[in-house]
This record gives sequence, structure tokens and C-alpha cells, in this order.
Amino acid sequence: VSTLTGGSSAGKRDTCLEEIQRLQQKRTERRRSMEEKRAERAKHEKRLQDQGMPGDVDFQLMIGAFRTEYGLEPHPHIPPGDLKICICVRKRPINAKERKRKDYDAVTCFNPVVMVHDCRLRVDGITKYLDNTDFAFDHTFDEEDSTEALYRYTAKPLVPFVFRQGRATCFAYGQTGSGKTFTMCGIQQQVVVDVFAHLSQAHATQQAPGGLGVYVSYFEIYGGRCQDLLNHRHKLLVREDGKGDVVIGELSEKEASSEEELWRLIEEGNRNRTTHATEVNDVSSRSHAICQVLLRDQDSGKLWGKLSLVDLAGSERGADTKSHCRQRRLESAEINKSLLALKECIRALDAGGGTHVPYRASKLTLVLKDCFTKEKARTVMIATVSPNASSADHTLNTLRYADRVKQKKAEDFHNS
Ligand code: ADP
Ligand code: MG
Repeated sequence: VSTLTGGSSAGKRDTCLEEIQRLQQKRTERRRSMEEKRAERAKHEKRLQDQGMPGDVDFQLMIGAFRTEYGLEPHPHIPPGDLKICICVRKRPINAKERKRKDYDAVTCFNPVVMVHDCRLRVDGITKYLDNTDFAFDHTFDEEDSTEALYRYTAKPLVPFVFRQGRATCFAYGQTGSGKTFTMCGIQQQVVVDVFAHLSQAHATQQAPGGLGVYVSYFEIYGGRCQDLLNHRHKLLVREDGKGDVVIGELSEKEASSEEELWRLIEEGNRNRTTHATEVNDVSSRSHAICQVLLRDQDSGKLWGKLSLVDLAGSERGADTKSHCRQRRLESAEINKSLLALKECIRALDAGGGTHVPYRASKLTLVLKDCFTKEKARTVMIATVSPNASSADHTLNTLRYADRVKQKKAEDFHNS
């Protein structure tokens, strides 16, 4: 019996020993793998720091892994057709100041998709995870894409459109500091060149009976009031005349006979906006700037076509409603109202004929009335976003807004 049991217990001891050895080996392996991971992480941390990218290493690794694993290739941009409404997103590069304060890139663009990686902690307070939200638009452009490329696929077709008697509008929408003014300035430069390139062709084909002249007006809406940027911030009164046309009284309109002259006038308007453009409390972040290039029949002076380039007030205004300053609160409420009205007006334009356009809901939409109500109207909206993780909430708000402007993707957006 003893031999039998002895043999059996010896066998048990053997399996026991084996089990212990196996566990020990496993532990060693686990330790080694953890050490490797730690070394890998330290190496990565160092590399990020060397690249001037401090910040949360885990999240940056997770975002990096996500991008590789997802393996998504951006689709080539579809050449612009006759889109009645074109909505696109532009992500700007992260800057030195953001890196210095340990912020990091948490937005991925692979045209036409944009993804925001919201970096979160589980309730245990230790485990980190990414909460990814994605959207699709007509185009998305990332930090590597030039303004020239963005222009080519979005606003460029608006120029020939206004020469065909259209009313075209291009908006830059986004949080303060996300790149609205940077993008709009780039677009202005290209528009100046293209307008004069088309003008020579238009003259050749004798489109307008008296030939066409190029004019520019530039004004700002601040706290619900209009001010002329080409005439010492002269206060402007807006009214609707008997025919239902919106008239901006005393708005100066200057003729430009060359590319250089048009650019000089636009630059003058840009300069007259307030300096410190990226300061959150700066006037320029709380005002809408509307630069209009107009084509007029030189004989009758009648408006032929109009292109409005609109640098909107910062979209982050919601938070200001808690401000102690009454003036600030009122301004913010006004901005919110105008951005909501703008969304509704573009949606109504999208829905097409017969839909009520609530353009009277704000000064911004009132002065742009013909852009929403004319048969021949087209809109481009560029939603600009900051890449940094700390802006994820604002970025999501911007993308949600842009998404709602044009929801019915399947509809026929083409001008007939
Ligand atoms: P906003 O008008 O939305 O407040 P800005 O256009 O002033 O923002 O941009 C904020 C800062 O970021 C500026 O210094 C600007 O030069 C820079 N910037 C914005 N977009 C880009 C971009 N695509 N590439 C390089 N720098 C950019
Ligand atoms: Mg700006």
C-alpha cells in the first residue's frame, strides 16, 4: 500500500514541483515582459521628449497604436463638383506653446473622416482608455495639407460661380485659436488671383453687357452692430427695403482694378480688425468679419455676383454665459444666437425651395440674406479644429455643429 501510495504521492509531488516551476517561470516571464514594456515606455517617453513632445505617454502611445492598427488610408479628395453646400474640416498643427504645456495631438484625419480621441480614466482612477468619436464630411484636411490644397477642393469653384451670377459664401467656423483667420487669409489670397484670372475671360466672352467691375466691402459684426472695416469702423445701419433686399446703409464699397489693388484693400480690412488675434477675449474672437468681393455690371452698376468670405466669431462662447461681466454675457448670447441662426439658414438652403429661411433671427444671417434665399446660392463651411487633447470638448462641439449643418447626405445637393 505504502509503495502504491508513496508512488502516487511522489507523482503528486512531481506535478506540484512542476506546477511551482511553471508558475515561477511565468512570473519571471511576466516580470521580464513588464520590464521590457517599462524600458520601451521610457524609451518612448525620451523620444517624445526629444521631439519636444512631452505629455501623457500612455495616451500618445494608445493614439499611435490606434492609428497603425486602424490602418486607414486617407481617400483622395474628390474634385469639387457643383456642390450646393460643401462642409469640410481642417485640423491645424500643434504648436510649441501647446507642447510646452504637455498637451498632445488627439485628432486624426483621414479624408473624409475625422476622429477625436478623448483620453479618459476609468473609475478606478488608473486605467486609461480612449473614447473615439468619428465624423465624415465632404473633405477633411490635416496639418500636412496646405491652404492651397484646401482651397482647390472647397472654395475655388465659388469664383466661376459668382461670374455666373451666383451668390457664394465661405465660412470659417471654430474655436478661437483653431485657425479660422489663418485659413481665411489664405483663401482671400487665392480668391484675389482667381477673380482677376476669370475677369479677363469674362471680358473676352462679353458675359455682362457693360463688362464687369470688381468691388470690395469689408465689415464686422460686433455685439450685434455692424462696423465698416474700410471706413474707420463707421457704424452701419441694416434694413430691408421695399423689395425685400437687405441694405447696409453707408457701407463703403471700393473698386479694385487689379489683383494688387484688391489685395491691398482686403489687407487694409484685415489690419483694421483688432490685433492680438488669438487672445480669447480679443474683439476679433467675438466678432464676425465679412469680406465681400462684388462683381458689378459697369454700365448699369447692377450687382452681378457676390462672394462673401466670413471669418466667424469663436464658437466657444457657451462658457461665457457664466461670466461676471454683463457686457460679455450679452455679447456671448448674441454670438450663440447668430451661430445657431446660421446653422438653421444653411440647413434651409440645403433643403431647397419653399423652406422657410429664418434669416431675421440674427444680424449675421440678415446681412447674408441673399446667400440663403437666392436661387443661385452656394455655401462652403470650413470647420477648423485644434489638435490638442485639452481642446477635445471644443473640437467635438465644432464637429457636431458642422455635422448638423448638413445631415441629409443622401440628398441631391447639386445645382441644376
Ligand atoms: P482663430 O482665427 O481661429 O482664432 P488663428 O487663425 O489666429 O485662429 O490661428 C491661431 C494660430 O495658429 C496662429 O498663430 C496661426 O498662425 C496658427 N495656425 C492656424 N492654422 C494653421 C495651419 N494650418 N498651419 C500652421 N499654422 C496655423
Ligand atoms: Mg481669428
